[in-house]
Amino acid sequence: MAGPALPMDDRDGVIWYNGKLLPWRDAKVHVLVHSLHYGNSVFEGERIYNGKVFELTKHSERLVKSAKMLAYDLPYTVEELDAATRLVVAENKLDGGYVRPLAWRGAEVIGVSAAGTKVHVAIAAFPWGAYYAQKAIKLCTSRWKRPSPESSPAGSKAAGLYIICTLAKDEALAAGYQDALMHDYKGRLSEATGANLFLVLNGELHTPTTETILNGITRQTVMALARTRGIKVVEREIWPDELAKASEVFLTGTAVEVQPVASIDKLQYEVGPVTQALIADYAALVRS
Ligand code: PMP
Repeated sequence: MAGPALPMDDRDGVIWYNGKLLPWRDAKVHVLVHSLHYGNSVFEGERIYNGKVFELTKHSERLVKSAKMLAYDLPYTVEELDAATRLVVAENKLDGGYVRPLAWRGAEVIGVSAAGTKVHVAIAAFPWGAYYAQKAIKLCTSRWKRPSPESSPAGSKAAGLYIICTLAKDEALAAGYQDALMHDYKGRLSEATGANLFLVLNGELHTPTTETILNGITRQTVMALARTRGIKVVEREIWPDELAKASEVFLTGTAVEVQPVASIDKLQYEVGPVTQALIADYAALVRS
């Protein structure tokens, strides 16, 4: 997406910060916060439609779960996180846009062990348009691989896991693509840098299993929408050679919504009927 017009730390508005609403520019951390050094902050990305966050509670639950997978508890319940999010969306007068909750471990101690750190939570909300400028995007295969579940907590939306995504995305952008498709540690298809992958094969929807990916809330929503339409949905391991047999490919994610893929490396795709139907169904659902 095109960069935001204003720097993210220099805006008007308020940010919910450990239970209080702070002026936007005052929502700061110390350089010695544990999570900045060791990558163990966790976050969410949520979209606002008509003033309401789509699937808010599922996102709040995932934030709590992401922290639990990194062995810490948030000092707020899911209900408190939901209420804080609604408050910050209302206070910033957002009809549409994006919400970024973040939880991190504080600066009480330094060292690999996080024992003794306090857990902090902030929630920011801001206007945000389409993720990509293109109707259908060009992907390249990344040299970066999603790690084995024995090496990383794949189901956690943990900041540290995004070092791979940022490397993959910036290499793709520099090479003239809009995003990167990552394989996993075994060489199977996994996901893009901030979105899940779907292939249409013989009219059926195929998507990788959740072993090495984030099980996206949009992914689950779109699978349910497809089933409602009578489209068969198959979750399985998918190898890269199957991309040549796909008639359509798309990505799903809170930010990207249902995003058609025009090409992956040298393979080209049409924006076909299954993708178009699910774009329409998703657009109607999030605004309903
Ligand atoms: N995979 C990754 C790596 C992501 O960052 C995201 C965005 N949160 C997704 C998948 C899609 O998840 P969701 O549909 O819950 O936004």
